[in-house]
Amino acid sequence: MSDTSTAAYTAEAARLDAADELAKHREKFALDDTVYLDGNSLGALPAHVPARMADVITRQWGELRIRSWDESGWWTAPERIGDRIAPLVGAADGQIVVGDSTSVNVFKAVVAATRLAGGDRDEILVDATTFPTDGYIAASAARMTGHRIVPLDPAEMPGAVTGRTALALVNHVDYRTGRLQDLPGVTAALHAAGALAVWDLCHSAGALPVGLDAHGVDLAVGCTYKYLNGGPGAPAYLYVAERHQARFDSPLPGWNSHADPFGMTPDYRAAEGAPRGRVGTPDILSMLSLEAALDVWDGVRIEDVRAKSLALTDFFLECVRAYAPEGRVTSVTPEAHAERGSQVALRCAEAPAVMAELIRRGVVGDLRRPDVLRFGFTPLYVGFADAERAARVLGEVLRDIPAG
Ligand SMILES: *Cc1c(COP(=O)(O)O)cnc(C)c1O
Repeated sequence: MSDTSTAAYTAEAARLDAADELAKHREKFALDDTVYLDGNSLGALPAHVPARMADVITRQWGELRIRSWDESGWWTAPERIGDRIAPLVGAADGQIVVGDSTSVNVFKAVVAATRLAGGDRDEILVDATTFPTDGYIAASAARMTGHRIVPLDPAEMPGAVTGRTALALVNHVDYRTGRLQDLPGVTAALHAAGALAVWDLCHSAGALPVGLDAHGVDLAVGCTYKYLNGGPGAPAYLYVAERHQARFDSPLPGWNSHADPFGMTPDYRAAEGAPRGRVGTPDILSMLSLEAALDVWDGVRIEDVRAKSLALTDFFLECVRAYAPEGRVTSVTPEAHAERGSQVALRCAEAPAVMAELIRRGVVGDLRRPDVLRFGFTPLYVGFADAERAARVLGEVLRDIPAG
């Protein structure tokens, strides 16, 4: 904008909010007047969830008790909810099972991928910028299966895949910088060399189109308490492409993944399809709060969410450039839309003190030590006025907290 006054930006924010087709979804959430830019860490509570959970607890558990496994659909919840998540990540039905944490699903996916790759492929490429848990789990899986970990920047993976590569484990969006990796390109390069692609969608599912089926992804995992608003510790999910399901050999073959779980036989026989990714008894309370939370996506197109997310992060970056004192913050989030997820990460030498003060003044982002201020944009409940206010308060805080 040519006029860079506060009045010009607040007017622009009001104009953008008025034209925003997704703005109406905000009222579905329990929010106050803080600017909540941490929905990429813990999504906000959809307002109807408490009443649904009261029914789950008092009636389904309290009154129906054991009958609810059948009569309230508890037993089939992992696949039913998987099919609710499927359209958000571009998957046809029957390929996603919900349960366990992302960390546990990373373990299942990595070990199962080494078994699918077979032969003498002894290398696992791991995103060198990964969220730590994926790296720790992959390293342990590699020790168990006799593989070697090769840490690489995802951009370098296409040039590094060889006939020894079993799989690559990659974060679709970098949790620290917000960089969106090239899922189609990396997946195609892996396949060209006969290797498998395992994607972690924690920071992309619910924020942008993923296209799991369209791009031929082999296995994927993701969490549901970030952009999917499932609630603290809500269960994660595992995607196994249909073509791999018959050969998917879980390293955690619990009784819930047995073809006949109530046969209670000593020998293991894997279930067909998505249930093969189960382990033990599902955490029904968390799972059903996730199921209720997914109602907010009814009638929402993920392409529209993506368009708004990019407009929000563009506008926030523009406001930060206008409001922040020269040289105090530097964006580490890519400018190019094709390389940007749904967050803005700003490097700032005084980041710990600045984030604490931002939160005190009603702008909630988070800190990634030592020096990154992270702001997540969840288009269903964050608007352009929020982006403007966050940048304006950031400018004020930076003036009040001197450099150095
Ligand atoms: C948030 C996140 C996780 C979290 O794993 P949990 O097992 O739920 O604690 C894992 N991987 C990535 C990339 C994440 O962003």
